[in-house]
Amino acid sequence: MGSKKTNPDQWRLATRLVRGGTERTPFGETSEGLFLTSGYVYDSPEEAEAAFTGDVKRYMYSRYSNPTVTMFEKRLALLEGAETCVSTSSGMAAVFAALASHLQTGDRVVASRALFGSCLHIIKNQLPKFGIECELVDGTDLQQWKQALSKKTNCVFLESPSNPCLEVIDIQAVSDLAHEAGALVIVDNVFATAVLQHPLKLGADIVMYSATKHIDGQGRTMGGAILTNNADFVENSLVPFFRNTGPTLSPFNAWVLLKGLETLDLRVERQSENALKVAEYLSGHSAITKVLYPGLESHPQYELAMRQMSLGGTVVAFEVNGGKAAAFRVLNGLEMVDISNNLGDTKSLITHPATTTHQKLSAEEKQILGITDGLVRLSVGLEDVEDLKDDLDRALNKA
Ligand SMILES: *Cc1c(COP(=O)(O)O)cnc(C)c1O
Repeated sequence: MGSKKTNPDQWRLATRLVRGGTERTPFGETSEGLFLTSGYVYDSPEEAEAAFTGDVKRYMYSRYSNPTVTMFEKRLALLEGAETCVSTSSGMAAVFAALASHLQTGDRVVASRALFGSCLHIIKNQLPKFGIECELVDGTDLQQWKQALSKKTNCVFLESPSNPCLEVIDIQAVSDLAHEAGALVIVDNVFATAVLQHPLKLGADIVMYSATKHIDGQGRTMGGAILTNNADFVENSLVPFFRNTGPTLSPFNAWVLLKGLETLDLRVERQSENALKVAEYLSGHSAITKVLYPGLESHPQYELAMRQMSLGGTVVAFEVNGGKAAAFRVLNGLEMVDISNNLGDTKSLITHPATTTHQKLSAEEKQILGITDGLVRLSVGLEDVEDLKDDLDRALNKA
């Protein structure tokens, strides 16, 4: 009721984000309904039977689906240009479901080495327990991908830009190599967001998000999502795994995330503009030895980044001269930016990866990934960029 007859597939981005997936009840509520219900009532045992055989498609149990969760999935699918979206309780639940639903003993995974810490853990420590072979490559080196994908492979997993050093991977080139090797390509698109980068259009098969990051973007809820146009993967791998293992997104969190999507484009664009200005400011500071930001011409893959992404993103990494002690002095010297390992928030957040998100890596792994003792990761928020620069300036002058 109350939905006029325009075709959501023809809507432009901003319209999709505000209106996509909305399904009103007969009460005609303006905002999306929050359906806090675990079960659903059948009119008759015949109807229940037909629901369980699959002859009637309807809500049966909120581990499978829920109207509020469905609205979130439809809205995100419209944004991504994907046929299917399956949402999950966290980003890591999405990563694990995408991998574990598809892989079995004897299979092989090739992944870029520069990954979010927990993604690396799943690939390096969890999957091998099930007899799945995993090879890690330098994601920026196409020769290494070519070498690793010269063997039959079932899955490729990559993140671009990567956490925390913002390396950029050529998604189209890696997807082409992966498909020749028989692999499905999964892209963790958290840092770029669905506003700035469209991996499915660049040849990837599956895109996943931590909705905790920019989709909520206001520090409130956890969530995740898997998006794809691969119907075989959805029907035969993902849905049976998802329904029976239960990494379900709660209706309340889905409702919060729906509201987050309404402003996602505005926030990501403004935060990316702020991030570029902060990166430019940091590049000129004498206490800093290196600034890593895909939107800066000094970034080693600037051209690729600008080909794949419409802006440089919301995260900047930089190296303070003087190692851990100097990096800690900077963090301690900030009066506004908060110390937190979350990212994508409207509030600017800063972390020291070597002692937090990537603490568990060996010294050698940190060195390979460029996670030095002086490296700091800054997630740029929606504050006035002049206030951010003032705060950083104060702190850097103490370093
Ligand atoms: C945060 C994050 C995840 C994990 O998401 P959660 O919602 O924290 O489970 C995965 N990948 C990247 C790149 C992330 O930043």
